[in-house]
Amino acid sequence: MRSLLRRCANCGAYTLSKERCPRCGGPVRVPHPPKYSPEDKYQKYRILQKLATGQLPVREDTREKILKDLTT
Ligand SMILES: [Zn+2]
Repeated sequence: MRSLLRRCANCGAYTLSKERCPRCGGPVRVPHPPKYSPEDKYQKYRILQKLATGQLPVREDTREKILKDLTT
């Protein structure tokens, strides 16, 4: 379950407000980072995006193999 609790990035106060810290008006954020999951649903899309934008330095035949693996 997603936490309702937010923490002020400014003063560190915990709050249920999603907008602003009630104490100092600073920005709030979810206090814990998203959990790492070994079944990363979005990994495939990140790899595909990197391949598509040329951020993944691989040989052309490797690129084609990965694309084929991920899109089938
Ligand atoms: Zn604050």
